[in-house]
Amino acid sequence: MIYIVVDLEATCWEDRSKSPNEIIEIGAVMVNEYKEQISEFDTFVKPIIHTQLSDFCTQLTSITQTLVDSAPLFPQAIACFQNWITSHSDEYVLCSWGFYDKKQFENDCLLHNLPADWIKAHWSIKHQYSKIKNMKPMGMEQALAKELLTLEGTHHRGIDDAKNIAKIFIKYFDHWGIK
Ligand code: AMP
Ligand code: MG
Repeated sequence: MIYIVVDLEATCWEDRSKSPNEIIEIGAVMVNEYKEQISEFDTFVKPIIHTQLSDFCTQLTSITQTLVDSAPLFPQAIACFQNWITSHSDEYVLCSWGFYDKKQFENDCLLHNLPADWIKAHWSIKHQYSKIKNMKPMGMEQALAKELLTLEGTHHRGIDDAKNIAKIFIKYFDHWGIK
């Protein structure tokens, strides 16, 4: 079994009702059964509907128009991501901070007419963490602070968020009820 701690960034606007949001970055860290971080994956993704990133989105994520313009489209990016996972193991679970990333993967698969059955095994670390701590679900930043863990890199960059979530994942590895 391997654990894929994944964090997505997507097109966004100050007005949260604007849609659809499309994935623009897939950042992930792979953790093995021995709590070792064994690999990392990061790709930008070129959106097809709102092809121009809003200033708001670039400010939030630090992802620029140039980065997404030269990035693969979702079908190619997701094939790379799936190959990266299955080249290590066919038994995996996707772990993310909340259910947003699962839903966003499903939305983009639907948009591109791709199967979404590979997403089924998913855990929200945010909700499991809240159960362990007997607290209401909280943001990643807040959880890191609570654990006296440093938020490294740039918040709202998929790969950096994934690395930071992985710290909490590894710290509580034996408590998730995941074995
Ligand atoms: P995060 O993993 O917290 O960086 O957020 C993932 C995605 O959610 C971002 O790439 C945005 O598409 C969206 N998002 C996060 N925070 C905001 C916000 N304050 N306003 C609008 N969209 C947001
Ligand atoms: Mg993020």
